[in-house]
Formats: sequence, C-alpha cells, structure tokens
Amino acid sequence: MSARVYLDYNASAPVWPEAADAADEALRAGANASSIHAPGRAARARIEDAREAVARLVGADPAGIVFTGGGTEANNQAVRCSGAERVLVSAIEHESVLSADEEAEILPVTPRGVVDPEALDRALAADAPPALVAVMLANNETGVIQPVAQIAEIARRHGARVHCDAVQAAGKIPVDAAALGADSYALSAHKVGGPQGVGALVLRDPDSAGRLIHGGGQERGRRAGTENVAGIAGFGRAAEIVAARLEDFAELAALRTRMEEEIRAIDPAAWIVGADAPRLPNTSMIVMPGCESAAQVIAMDLDGIAVSAGSACSSGRVQLPYVLDAMGVDEAAAMCALRVSPGWRTTSEEIDLFVASWAGLRQRTARRVA
Ligand code: PLP
Repeated sequence: MSARVYLDYNASAPVWPEAADAADEALRAGANASSIHAPGRAARARIEDAREAVARLVGADPAGIVFTGGGTEANNQAVRCSGAERVLVSAIEHESVLSADEEAEILPVTPRGVVDPEALDRALAADAPPALVAVMLANNETGVIQPVAQIAEIARRHGARVHCDAVQAAGKIPVDAAALGADSYALSAHKVGGPQGVGALVLRDPDSAGRLIHGGGQERGRRAGTENVAGIAGFGRAAEIVAARLEDFAELAALRTRMEEEIRAIDPAAWIVGADAPRLPNTSMIVMPGCESAAQVIAMDLDGIAVSAGSACSSGRVQLPYVLDAMGVDEAAAMCALRVSPGWRTTSEEIDLFVASWAGLRQRTARRVA
C-alpha cells in the first residue's frame, strides 16, 4: 500500500503501526479475557484500556461501549434489536442500516445530501407507535455531515429513539455523543486506522442493548462470543491516535479545496457532489462527465492511485449509486462519480499526482468523445 498513492481512507484507513503493534502484542499474549488467571486478567486489561480509549474518542461513558465484529454488526444490533414497532432510516444510510430492517420507512434527503428534519417531524407526528430513527453522522460517499443533534431533538419530542452511524465521522471530526443526543452510535476500527473486523456499539444507557449474537455473557451480556482481544487492542490504540490528531485531519479541508479548484479549472463541467453542504474535511465526490466511475478507478489504478467509485464496502459488483439517486443526481452523472478520500498521512504531493492523473484521463476522454 505504501508505494501507491492511497486516497481511499473512507473504504479503509491504513493501519497505524502502533495499532498493529498493540494488536500483535495482544495476539501473541493470547488467553481468554474471561479467564480469571493472570494471562486472562492481562487480556481483560487490554480490553478495558481500549474501551476507555474508544469512549474518549466520542465523549461517551466506557460502560456504554459494546465491542462488536465491526460497524456493520453494530448497526445491525442497533436496528434489529431496538424493539421499536416502527423504524425510520434516511435514504443515504450505509447498507448495514438500510438492509437491517426491510420494512423501514425511508426519510428523504435534500439535493445537498442532507436529511430533511421537517420530513422526520411530519413522519413522527403522523403515527404514534414507539419508533427508532437511524441517521448517520457523515455519509461515506459524499462526506456530507447530517444534522444529528436536530434529528435527536425532534425524535425526543415525539418519544422516538435515535441510532447514529458515526463510522465515518469518528476520528475525522469532533464527535460528542452526549451533545449530539442519540441513544446509540456505531463505530468501526478500520476507518480510524485500526484492524478490520472490529467495531463498537456505543450506548447512552449501557443496559439498553438488545442481543443480536446469542451465547455466553461477554460484554456484560450484550454481545456473546470470546472477545477479539487483538482487534480490540488495536482499535483502542488507533482511537487514541486519531483523537490526538483531529486538528491534522481538519487541515485536509484546505488540501481538498485546492484539489477541487484545480479540477474545476481543468474542466469547468466537472462538479462536486454535496459541495454546498458541510462535509468531512477529507471527502470529495467528483463527477467527470462522460467517463464512467469504473473506468476512472481503473485508469487511476494504472497510475498507482487508489480511489473508489462510491461505496467500496461491496466492491466487485456494480452498484446503483443510491446515495446520489436519493439526492436527485441524474443517473448519467451519478455513473461518472469518483470518491476521493485522503487521510492522516496524505501529502500535498500525492494530491498533485491525483490531479495530474485526473487531468490526463480527462484529456483522453475528451479526445475519445470528439
Ligand atoms: N457505516 C458506514 C457509514 C460505513 O462507511 C461502513 C463501511 O464502509 C460501515 C458502516 C460498515 O463498517 P464495517 O466495515 O466495520 O462493517
């Protein structure tokens, strides 16, 4: 990965060496964290240290952190085990929320890619049964930040609970779980430079979780199965690192502005999805009219640049870009969108290489069309 220009942090961030070391040490130390002997207690200590670090990252109570097998599982647990009779989810949620309840009602978004709080207000006022509302904090494809505090306030007024997928936001912008006011949050280690296959469900009320995985009494009975001590230790270390580097991440916004300006100077017909809305500092969804996303990804790959065509979580199969569809972007443009998501270790020179590659492809496409 290091020899390439890696601009796909929203798909998976490169692992911090310190996080890999923490995971490696835990893996080599072994032992079951439920065992009462010394090695077991050492494994337990690693988990509890990580629980505190992850809680600190999002301003939560460590008691409310339930380690899971990733962001997908945390979202599934929150939605499937809420006990709510009615589930409302935004149209731009990650698939792990959208497909967790096939009967969920879909909340629309504006053309800027922002969930419409008034639509939620109307939907909740129209019907009374206990409801769960799921709205993400930042969209994985456009980076658009959602008005979660406002959504939570409306939901509370109607007696509904709120789950917030904070997988893309945590570590990239300040997240204060208490101030945002949701009842639960989903986090994922590999989006902050920790290992893949580990995440957390963050609960405001530590005892409010329904069970998704049944078995032993691990995680205070909220998630059965022997804990992934190595993954959790790596997650904890990554959480500490990104919490200390929020200001570095914020500086990516200046790099992104420059990149978007250069792209638009090369081709005024190119445009940025969600550019008018508040966005994560690192995310840019760029439409190159007339050149399909997959062709762009392949051309960039040949130039040694790793970017993505929309959601990469299920790459390998062609997906309708439903997020752009929900925003009302016409299909021809949506099929030509490229997601660029640099991160903590991206340099200005790497952005230059991306812009040069984009310009070269633009030129070749224009020649083909002419
Ligand atoms: N939620 C969002 C917004 C995501 O972007 C992703 C992964 O891309 C997930 C949830 C799923 O997380 P995980 O890969 O840990 O299952």
